[in-house]
Amino acid sequence: RNFAGDLQISKVNKWYPGDVHAVKDMDMEIKRGEFIVFVGPSGCGKTTLLRMIAGLESISSGEVVMDGRIVNKVPPKNRDIAMVFQNYALYPNMKVKDNIAFPLKMQHIGKTEIERRAAELAQKLELETLLERKPGALSGGQRQRVALARAMIRKPGLFLMDEPLANLDAKLRTEMRREIITLQRELGVTTIYVTHDQTEAMTMGTRIAVINGGVLQQFGTPQEIYRNPANLFVAGFIGSPNMNLWDTKLVTYQGQHYLTLGNTHIPIDVSNLPADGLREPLKAGIRPEHIVPAAPDEPHAVRMKINILENTGREAAVFLTGADMPNLTVVTDADFSGQVGQEVYIRLKPEKIHLFNIE
Ligand code: ADP
Ligand code: MG
Repeated sequence: RNFAGDLQISKVNKWYPGDVHAVKDMDMEIKRGEFIVFVGPSGCGKTTLLRMIAGLESISSGEVVMDGRIVNKVPPKNRDIAMVFQNYALYPNMKVKDNIAFPLKMQHIGKTEIERRAAELAQKLELETLLERKPGALSGGQRQRVALARAMIRKPGLFLMDEPLANLDAKLRTEMRREIITLQRELGVTTIYVTHDQTEAMTMGTRIAVINGGVLQQFGTPQEIYRNPANLFVAGFIGSPNMNLWDTKLVTYQGQHYLTLGNTHIPIDVSNLPADGLREPLKAGIRPEHIVPAAPDEPHAVRMKINILENTGREAAVFLTGADMPNLTVVTDADFSGQVGQEVYIRLKPEKIHLFNIE
């Protein structure tokens, strides 16, 4: 019986011996064909959750449900799952083609069919010229592609990947990211991808589950999470350069709401207030691209000084400081003409300011 692709995680908890509560009341519904990313800092429980879904780790309480069936007690080999890890273990004495075909040889599948599927995957992953080699004669990226091919050849119902690109250099990681997305889209297999890298999460996931301290912080599309972070943790974790965050107070004056930014007051749009109400002390936040240059006499223009300038050629990140002011990061055009040490005036777009309770 094959898994069609709908996965439900219901009130799942994991306690390890020594009172380690690694996963807390995890609730998630995943639909067929989705590419889900679990993202969060090291130690937040991503691997534990993935291993419970795979059946490699026992579930302390709650349920993992596949196509409506509770699978808590179903052994991994009966879950129609394929996994790829960071430390993918290829068989060193087998040629690439035999490594790829190995999972099918374990089943009773005809030689012609095995060869047809191996050739199809080798073509998709650009491994055709490497089939006669052994893993020792491959680069890191090539090995990782062989591991992907080997995992996918059984046509699993669910594909689980745990930081599969962590050992690759930055350029190769970007390439492999795209290969994995393309492969997943072509095969249409429900996929869960674990990473601590928010860029990987933002670029790969159709939906992202942001996890911290074993707790699901937010589950949504990359855009939803970027535009409307549910809390302070998500706001600070997703986005690079980071969202500017500072301690603030709300002030109301003649019917208009303001918040404090260091020694100044800036107007705020009240529709940005957190849904669960406000409890001071508060944090305010704004993305670096939502701070813009201003004229010195413009209302609510803020004077600051350029401390560091990082220009990638495509855009400039400007790090600003000021007396009695929080530091602010601004992302602007690459042709920005300011110099380190220079004073500049900026303005914060009021509709782009977020307010967060400090948890
Ligand atoms: P991540 O994959 O997000 O880095 P893990 O799922 O590996 O996080 O770990 C989550 C928490 O559970 C951490 O605090 C880790 O130390 C703890 N943990 C993981 N595996 C075990 C284990 N076998 N025994 C005890 N604690 C563990
Ligand atoms: Mg991990």
